[in-house]
Amino acid sequence: MSRILIVEDEMTIAELEKDYLELSGFDVEIETNGTAGLERSLREDFDLFLLDLMLPDTDGFEICRQIRQVKNTPVLMVSAKKDDIDKIRGLGLGADDYITKPFSPSELVARVKAHLARYERLIGCGISANDVIEIRGLKIDKTARRVWINGEEKNFTTKEFDLLTFLAQNPNHVFTKEELFSKIWDMESIGDIATVTVHIKKIREKIEFNTAKPQYIETIWGVGYRFKV
Ligand code: CA
Repeated sequence: MSRILIVEDEMTIAELEKDYLELSGFDVEIETNGTAGLERSLREDFDLFLLDLMLPDTDGFEICRQIRQVKNTPVLMVSAKKDDIDKIRGLGLGADDYITKPFSPSELVARVKAHLARYERLIGCGISANDVIEIRGLKIDKTARRVWINGEEKNFTTKEFDLLTFLAQNPNHVFTKEELFSKIWDMESIGDIATVTVHIKKIREKIEFNTAKPQYIETIWGVGYRFKV
């Protein structure tokens, strides 16, 4: 049974969410303050987090940010204001979805189910014992350092391979160009982060069907890049 943690300070809303999710067969826990919610999010294993944005102490932004540093578990953010949703999208915190209050219980349940199913597929096609990553038509053999797209092998330079593999191993996580540069080129603050842009372009030319509409590596404007799953 999938376990869901709700972090919501309005008890009536939290109970409503819990009731509907439990009716759909989920095991649901509630935390009514952000600090306790954050602590449990990091310490315990949940399959999905439902986070209210506005909480009296640690807010939903901060909880999401800290979860993303260590977990790829789906995060759904709940907000009373549509404007806030635009803002959190822009921040690229790594939340998987956003729901505006008031929402219909069936919409909430449908979105939770969709994200859990997607996450299970991701886990199921993740890194296997022989160190192969397969995500949709993309296959990366980390041991042999070979890459295939829809069965066709593509040649990658060392850094292109390292960059693609790093992003694919951390799906849905937004990395800044600076972070990618320091991780892949291993020379913090030396060199030009434009190198990252150039390599992303080359990788896209090899793996994307249409580089103007990337299916794998998404540009988060003003922030960096994310491997979409
Ligand atoms: Ca609230």
